[in-house]
Amino acid sequence: KQLQVESEIVMNTQCPFCSVQCTMELIEQRIVERSKYIVNPRPNPTSEGRLCVKGMNAHQHALHSERVLYPMLKVDGQFVRVSWSKALEVIKEKFTEIQREDGFDALGVYGGGSMTNEDAYLLGKFARIALRTRYIDYNGRFCMSAAASAGNKVFGIDRGLTNRLSEIPLSRCIILAGTNIAECQPTLMPYFNQAKENGSFIIAIDPRETATTKIADLHLRVKPGMDAALVNGLLKVIFDEGLIDPKFIDERTKGFDELKEHIATINLKEIAEITGVPVRQIKKAAITFGKAASGMIFTARGVEQQTNGYLAVRNFLNLLLVTGKIGKEGSGYGAVTGQGNGQGGREHGQKADQLPGYRMIDNPEHRAYIAKVWGINEQDLPGKGVSAYEMMEKVHQQEITGLFVMGSNPVVSNPNANFVEEGLKKLKFLVVVDMFISETARMADLILPTSSYLENEGTMTNLEGRVTLRQASRDCPGEVKHDWQILCEIALLLGKGEYFSYSCPEDIFNELRLASRGGIADYYGITYERLKKEGGLYWPCPSLDHPGEGRLFEKSFAHPDGKAEMIPVHNHFPEEQVNEDFPLYLTTGRVMAHYLTGVQTRRSPSLAARDVESFLEIHPETAKKYKIENNSLVKLESKRGSIVVRSKLTSEIREDTVFVPMHWGDSQSVNKITNQALDPTCKMPGFKVCAVKANPLVDL
Ligand code: SF4
Repeated sequence: KQLQVESEIVMNTQCPFCSVQCTMELIEQRIVERSKYIVNPRPNPTSEGRLCVKGMNAHQHALHSERVLYPMLKVDGQFVRVSWSKALEVIKEKFTEIQREDGFDALGVYGGGSMTNEDAYLLGKFARIALRTRYIDYNGRFCMSAAASAGNKVFGIDRGLTNRLSEIPLSRCIILAGTNIAECQPTLMPYFNQAKENGSFIIAIDPRETATTKIADLHLRVKPGMDAALVNGLLKVIFDEGLIDPKFIDERTKGFDELKEHIATINLKEIAEITGVPVRQIKKAAITFGKAASGMIFTARGVEQQTNGYLAVRNFLNLLLVTGKIGKEGSGYGAVTGQGNGQGGREHGQKADQLPGYRMIDNPEHRAYIAKVWGINEQDLPGKGVSAYEMMEKVHQQEITGLFVMGSNPVVSNPNANFVEEGLKKLKFLVVVDMFISETARMADLILPTSSYLENEGTMTNLEGRVTLRQASRDCPGEVKHDWQILCEIALLLGKGEYFSYSCPEDIFNELRLASRGGIADYYGITYERLKKEGGLYWPCPSLDHPGEGRLFEKSFAHPDGKAEMIPVHNHFPEEQVNEDFPLYLTTGRVMAHYLTGVQTRRSPSLAARDVESFLEIHPETAKKYKIENNSLVKLESKRGSIVVRSKLTSEIREDTVFVPMHWGDSQSVNKITNQALDPTCKMPGFKVCAVKANPLVDL
């Protein structure tokens, strides 16, 4: 017998688990005192009404019984429930004491790329005004910093995609470099399938065979860390075959002569040897891309999370520029952002060196502008801080003695995680704002409960630079507060309430609009009213009647002279090389069912069931050499530590390389063994390559 639905609530929301920001309708039906949830995709211009398995089950973590519902203070090693007034009083006392004893910069702030634009903006302002510290950075440092730095330097602007997603099917040749879109942003795959149906040639560059490389017409199985050198090979062929676009180069770019001189020194056979990609494949890829009437290049963490990630991306942009494939229909660049608000999270001042609107903290004009918007003296605005991992080093050295973490799990997401954990133990006071007791929250002195995507209103910016408004669908459970409310309440207690008097996220957004006005990421023309009426708007959007720019650089680039910048990029080898003791390369990545360090997705029963534990992908020949059987426990070790993971034998990976996903903590936390060496320009750690050894776990 069909049971009667007693009541029904319809929530219109969007998935928090990647930068595509797919929209959905979540229906809660009450039937005999139980709730049943139905998820229906809703169309939007980004994913055209598609949802992946993460979106279908996103609500499960938000409704999970392990949500932290009250402030929790650690007393004698145990968390006890306390009131908000007690929690805030403790923060005031500890923060004041730390800054009195160790100075303003003794407090660090660590943010996240999943927060709304309003919360990300406010966290930057909170660090600089309420805490007066220079030390703020966020987990997006590990996500987008290489592509963002390259985009800013080459084009004068960093926006994930230079074109609308809907142009992908119009592109005649597409390079997917170090990106596993099929697992990380699954609802984008139909764009690439459509491109193939339209006759596009797809080239994948990846050490592994993945669900994404399987759609490619040509897969270049590059050695981990050798992407920049591989592009030198592609450029060599492009030059030799006369496939450059001289008119575009002459009118729209600078730096060509130096690049040409450098490419003349490149030896294709040597490139094949050091990258592991045969000459004939390099030639096929370069000639196909060079001859195509239009072309797009997408990069993601495979290229970017390297100690030369910035330069590797720049070389891919060299390739786009010499072939004139940008600023046109079906031609452009895409940095495939991973985090839920990876694009917006990096635009509004969470980065150590940036202020809202992508203004630079060491630029006197930019400082003066933001100080005016915030109503403070420019001299009171702290200077440049350090990157996320460097903050962890300062924690270790006890230069930073108090840490405020919001929307992040640094003890699992940082490289060399054992070192990070040891550092956090030395802190005088650690506050973590989270929905769950994550691996980092477990170490906290105080946990503050925050709202989920179903409860928190705010704007999000997708990987195309399209801003949307995510409205709240339900009230906060228990005594949960929104991030912005928590920041305002602490600021008030620290005597800075006058700078933090907002009654709703829209108030914050209106200030963010002003702060971004005239900057690179100009949101001034975007309002809540327009977003409600128009659905979404691309930045830059400098005025209230501006339609937003879906495709960038049609006529000029964003530098004052309008030209894009090319530079020679020399072959680079990973900072850590394999040797007798550590003979295998380790590379890391994601799986479809999980998000970041898995704090949320591991608590979704449907998602957790798809991948209950971490694993080690290893080639059968390699496994044989090290006496590793399929589905057995393996000790994987680098010079920084060891983890234990279950083996998965597959010929889809290079024999010299193993792969472990990044979503698990504790003994399965792959970042306990990854390399902390940083890219000198953007400070991205070299997550994607380190040297390891693998041995069967010996029974004790
Ligand atoms: Fe869409 Fe990404 Fe969510 Fe999947 S994870 S439903 S692709 S937003």
